[in-house]
Amino acid sequence: MRVPAHAPRVEERPVPTLSVTSPSRDPRPGYAGLPADALAAWFAEAGEAGYRAKQVADALWTGRAATFDEVRQLPSALRARLADAFRASTIVATDVRPADGGLTGKALHRLDDGRSIESVLMRYPARGGRRARTTLCISSQAGCAVGCPFCATGELGFWRDLDAAEIVDQARFWRHELLATDERLTNIVFMGMGEPLLNTDAVLDAAAALSDPTRFGLGARHLTISTSGVVPGIERLIALAPQYTLAVSLHAARPALRSLLVPLERRYPATEVVAAATAYAEATGRRVTYEMVMIAGINDTPADAHAAAELLRGRLAHVNLIPMNPVAHTPWQPSSPDRIEAFANVLRAVGLHTTVRRNRGVDIGAACGQLAAELAGAPTPAAVARRRELLVDRSADALRLAGSGVG
Ligand code: SF4
Repeated sequence: MRVPAHAPRVEERPVPTLSVTSPSRDPRPGYAGLPADALAAWFAEAGEAGYRAKQVADALWTGRAATFDEVRQLPSALRARLADAFRASTIVATDVRPADGGLTGKALHRLDDGRSIESVLMRYPARGGRRARTTLCISSQAGCAVGCPFCATGELGFWRDLDAAEIVDQARFWRHELLATDERLTNIVFMGMGEPLLNTDAVLDAAAALSDPTRFGLGARHLTISTSGVVPGIERLIALAPQYTLAVSLHAARPALRSLLVPLERRYPATEVVAAATAYAEATGRRVTYEMVMIAGINDTPADAHAAAELLRGRLAHVNLIPMNPVAHTPWQPSSPDRIEAFANVLRAVGLHTTVRRNRGVDIGAACGQLAAELAGAPTPAAVARRRELLVDRSADALRLAGSGVG
């Protein structure tokens, strides 16, 4: 296990084994993670004509081929050489579970070292003049070191960063799946397992491949990069000023509560995160999305709504309120619809565009990390009880601090 020094955890606790691991990783790089010049050099060195690289790219990026053997325009000897040198996909196996009457699909992908990651496909039918959308949520790390206590991935711990091919191959997997039903992806969000801006190099490489018209070809404006508030990562995005949507997991504006819900608050306070996100909005002209998971009696009070309204008032912002997905290791429950609506109205009163997201795929554990947590095996009832008690104590401390005006 490797935990980056810059990503403190709520507490140190033993990290369970997510699934069976093999002692060594496949040494062949994932084809989709390699830049075009590196691939061109490989084809030249192999004595192959340049157009062969384009034939492979066309087949792999459109989803028509999942393996080199399926690129039938190529001579069989070249197909074999490619398979010796590269992996056509870094995903070894996938288990897909549908939910919501087929509107949601959750995929558990196994990687070459036995680690499992998740992606979720959400179909939104056309409504009220809005066109139908098919949004894919992808993972950027196997596990996560940030340790948000309401999150199943945070509870699992951190195993490793994904490389660019492992990130992109989740989208390629779904494009291939959707060919059968003649559907296409319209949006991709980096909101699955992991903190994307603690794996910035690979995430930016993957986003570049996904938005490149000669590769995956989804417009940059259809990509969302989410962060729990890694300010240096946001600053890197500002320097690049891409047209990606930035989503910030705010969850609470009052520091004591945000420290409880997003432990990175201790390193990057919400005021600094919002300042950096505002600079991104100014650099790109793109509205920033602020996500707030709504937890009954914890962060959904009128005081929290007014604190969020004050923090975000006047900014180029959209606020998305998300009822918490219940997870076994917390005693917390989602806020009631009335409470969420009252919270939303406080934000709307200061001119903030605010929406409420409906949870998808609760019956298949669609919140990130829930399937992988199932695979890891249930913790003992005693461990769950200890964890819940700890959170009750910490919540009480945070609420006391926030109520006293100190936090
Ligand atoms: S909510 Fe996101 S940042 Fe927080 S622990 Fe879960 S995956 Fe990590």
